[in-house]
Amino acid sequence: MTATSPKITRAEIVDLRFPTSEEHHGSDAVHVDPDYSAAYVILHTDGAPAGHGLTFTIGRGNEIVCQAIRSLSPLVVGRTVADIARDRRGFWRALAQDSQFRWLGPEKGVMALALAAIVNAVWDLEARLAQKPLWRLLADMPAEELVAAIDFHGIRDAVDEEACLAMVRANDATRAERIARVEREGFPAYTTSCGWIGYSDETVRARCRDGVRDGFTHFKMKIGQSVDDDVRRARIIREEIGPDRVLMVDANQRFDVRQAIDWIKPLAPFGIWWFEEPVSPDDVLGHAEIARAIAPIKVATGEQCQNRVMFKQFLASGGMQICQLDSCRVGGVNDNLAIMALARRYGVPVCPHAGGVGLCEFVAHLIMVDYIRFNPTMEGRVCEFVDHLHEHFTDPCVVKGGRYLAPTKPGYSGEIKRASLEAFAFPDGPEWVRRRKKGVVS
Ligand SMILES: [Mg+2]
Repeated sequence: MTATSPKITRAEIVDLRFPTSEEHHGSDAVHVDPDYSAAYVILHTDGAPAGHGLTFTIGRGNEIVCQAIRSLSPLVVGRTVADIARDRRGFWRALAQDSQFRWLGPEKGVMALALAAIVNAVWDLEARLAQKPLWRLLADMPAEELVAAIDFHGIRDAVDEEACLAMVRANDATRAERIARVEREGFPAYTTSCGWIGYSDETVRARCRDGVRDGFTHFKMKIGQSVDDDVRRARIIREEIGPDRVLMVDANQRFDVRQAIDWIKPLAPFGIWWFEEPVSPDDVLGHAEIARAIAPIKVATGEQCQNRVMFKQFLASGGMQICQLDSCRVGGVNDNLAIMALARRYGVPVCPHAGGVGLCEFVAHLIMVDYIRFNPTMEGRVCEFVDHLHEHFTDPCVVKGGRYLAPTKPGYSGEIKRASLEAFAFPDGPEWVRRRKKGVVS
């Protein structure tokens, strides 16, 4: 890019919340009433398109993440896109490791969520300027440039810049075939829409039929409130999906280690591929112990793993046998590139977490990047899909025949329609004012 590269002039931040708790969408054993929300940021520029980014929360506290984005935004406003692209690692570190903000993390919690929103918006802007979908921008990037976006601080003992470069280069000879394949076939998806814990048995059955009809081969159910309910629901799902489709379960951190090991026993006869988030997302040793105890059922985790350094602990210790990276939990695209490299280093399949609002739009790009540049197989890998809220996006993800199709429009697909931003802005958007008047919300 030239010296006339667009400059980021202003960050517009929206506290956006959807009342999904009204119909129990997204409910699990721990998060019983989520209102899927986005701390949303638009990076306006002088004359170029704006960059749109977000991070995902489930309602209360979204205003705190919005404030963190507001506080970080002076570190990005005033920069040109060319400046950022010239030193992507340096830009990322300037935000992730700001000498004062870092005390609030570092690289975890609210500050990591805010960092993700901004970093995702910057990549959206860059991809729009390049007139490419983000996955294609990263697929086409020279290996040196791709690796130069990654901060290896804290993971060099597992994978350093040299090792990562060798890893990416080793995939280069067959890269064009994989680009053609994702454009032709997409990437395998699985559905969680059948198994929310607040759904009635009839709804579970109906959603399973929908999933089978739509071509899904992998289904996930939420567990952890009552073992009897879980066994009954597993039986219903198995009846509906038949013996050959694949079933996974997700406890959303509900248990302690021994409880998790005991809880899975009566479910094992239904044929479980993975047991997701059995315990605290910080319990490295606990995940490893569970993995040893419940084999051949795999332990899956990652959606609330804080950063690449924690991913290293989980991957190296054997407690993360399925790597569920999240587009918005860690520091955006750059940190996820590091996590893809780590998963490759430890030979663990990447099966991204999605759902929420915007996560499916983002992972539709990330899973292609991972497959093309880092982990070049589709064997034993599926990417989560949840069929909620896509109608609010200007470039919604497309899942057909149980597969994510490769996005085609320039950008990172996280842009939400202006009408939706206005209607669901919290607390003053008309959708929320109306509910407050009716006494539905306080
Ligand atoms: Mg989960």
